[in-house]
Amino acid sequence: MKLLLLAAALATQQVDIHSRPLREERGRDFDILHYRIELSLEEESRSLLGETTIRMVALGDQLTTCTLDAETFTVDRVLDRASRPLPFTHRDGRLTIELDPPVLHGEEIAVTVHYSGTNIDVDADRYGMSEGYDLGLDFKIETDENPQLINTLSFPEGARHWFPSYDHPNDRATQETIVTVRADYEVLSNGRLVSVSEPTDGKRTWHWSQELPHPTYLFVLVAGPYVVLTDSAGDLPLHYWVYEKDVDDAMRSFERTPEIIAFFNEEYGYDFPWVKYDQITIPGIGGGAESTGATVLGESTIHNARAEQDFPSHGLVAHEAAHQWWGNLVSYRDWSETWLSESFATYGEYLYTRHALGEDEAAVNLLGKKNAYLREARERYTRPVVFKRWTYPNENFDRHTYQKGATILNMLRRILGDAPFRSAMTHFLTKHAFQPVDTHDLIDAIKEATGENIEWFFEQWIYRAGHPVLDVSYQWSKPAGRLSVRVRQTGDVYRTPVQIGVHTPSRRYSETFWLESANATLELDVAEKPLLVRFDEGNYLLKEWTFEKSTEELVYQLENDDVIGRMWAASELGDHPAVAETARRDRFWSVRRAAIEALGEKASVELLREAALDENSKVRAEAFRGLGETKNTELVPFIEERFRRDDSYVAQAEALRALGAIADPSSKTLLEEASGIDSPRDVVGRAARWALDELSELDDRSNE
Ligand SMILES: [Zn+2]
Repeated sequence: MKLLLLAAALATQQVDIHSRPLREERGRDFDILHYRIELSLEEESRSLLGETTIRMVALGDQLTTCTLDAETFTVDRVLDRASRPLPFTHRDGRLTIELDPPVLHGEEIAVTVHYSGTNIDVDADRYGMSEGYDLGLDFKIETDENPQLINTLSFPEGARHWFPSYDHPNDRATQETIVTVRADYEVLSNGRLVSVSEPTDGKRTWHWSQELPHPTYLFVLVAGPYVVLTDSAGDLPLHYWVYEKDVDDAMRSFERTPEIIAFFNEEYGYDFPWVKYDQITIPGIGGGAESTGATVLGESTIHNARAEQDFPSHGLVAHEAAHQWWGNLVSYRDWSETWLSESFATYGEYLYTRHALGEDEAAVNLLGKKNAYLREARERYTRPVVFKRWTYPNENFDRHTYQKGATILNMLRRILGDAPFRSAMTHFLTKHAFQPVDTHDLIDAIKEATGENIEWFFEQWIYRAGHPVLDVSYQWSKPAGRLSVRVRQTGDVYRTPVQIGVHTPSRRYSETFWLESANATLELDVAEKPLLVRFDEGNYLLKEWTFEKSTEELVYQLENDDVIGRMWAASELGDHPAVAETARRDRFWSVRRAAIEALGEKASVELLREAALDENSKVRAEAFRGLGETKNTELVPFIEERFRRDDSYVAQAEALRALGAIADPSSKTLLEEASGIDSPRDVVGRAARWALDELSELDDRSNE
């Protein structure tokens, strides 16, 4: 699952999460073995006619009732295996079926629920999802962006809106989906396609079968006029389901799927678990949802060639593919344990970035994750990663679950070592394949595979809120040839390894120390005066920190450290002339961008004009921001010219915002023209309209 954050989630007030109710994992009387879901869907009336047969085994004893989740539709009757009607009550989303005689422990029964609904439209807000999230079953009308179609979103508790179910992740079942829709539609569900009937009365019936068990939130159904593109990863069939208008652009988003699957097969040491992997685009979501063997992706993931530099889909494709192991093969028992799925998928993005684009891009990817978490920690709240206080499942899907969890996995990998970490992950996936798990299962798997008792690590990073806050300083004593690095932990004390790197004129040192107390002094033999003392070489630690350094050392670091160190040195140096040089010359885009940011208002117009021509669109965007802040009307012709010639939508949008910030009336014509330009997520149009507002506000003020 990867949903784009909405503005509401970025509110700056501190959020009281401790007053949320304390939740525990749901218990159950039955183990559900199989759902046979038969649906007939009618778009005109937004209606469904359903018949779901549920086969289950009693876990309790002498059971006189069976309770299922069932919302949005009306239950017409319930039958037992012999087609005898069973009494039932259906209220407040619970369908309680009476069983007579009582069902004994271990006994298998089956019930068939007949149900129907018209004008189906689930109010997602009522279930803790953002407005516009089409929870459950949804009938989409045709728009400029999408054809008419039907889709489900079962995450997190949407399954119960299209079939009666035990709708909680601690149960896994197999499934058949048998769907009747208009004959010109293609239908996708989990598992393998068993059959498609000949058209009768303008309709066809599609029969899909998912023969390995999975939780209900991963059940999916999409029906519409799709074009299906075929590909493969070794023996694994791959399909990309797209709208007809998107066919020419589709492979730009999906072409790396075989490589991504092959990479994860190797990385996780467990072959892709499902019989096929389909990806399908739908309206109404950003990001994607990792239904088993059939991921749904927001339609905006398909883009033209120009958008590739700013909106590549490969990270999203990798994230959802990683879920096919993390979340789908092995699933969390309860919503408070979602990190077992999302952190691993988010870490999968990082691993794939490193594999495909190298260490520098991967380092920037990881830094982005750390900063995303730190912003949430500063502006909203901190909580343990496994946290049992929540009202709605979706509250567990925040930056602690995704980004913090991913950085924690990277630290775990550092502590265990690459090979033991990977072997522990393979062992965990193999041992718990097709089972629900919790964090203790992961700790045990690590113990079994590596011999390491890593409970302390989980205690401080998973079961406790926060992160290390550090003050670092050092002294070098010439006569003794000693370097003493002092580390003060000003918040909770963390136990962690940290690597100290030292550059001197004639050699480089690198040594690992363990921090275990509030105050530590780390000693190294260093004969010459250090040019650079690097704390946390390798950039593993999730931390807030200060490290006072001389300007001389920072200038050296700006030129000689890794990408993360160079970015940090730029931000520490601020408007030093060396930073301007870095903005022009550094070999890596994110360092050039960080240098322009660090210079802020002190960046010269000359430098910003040069940077507006940088080869990387993110650097150009930053340059336009700087140019806007100058409020210099003489720059308007230059910015307008760059707007016309830039091939990046994001850089173009920033050029327009710069024109808005300068607010010269002469920009109006271009801005009006730009407000109608088609672009991904309307970035260009939105920027133009914002800039026009700035111009008209200035107009209003001058008229007052
Ligand atoms: Zn996800």
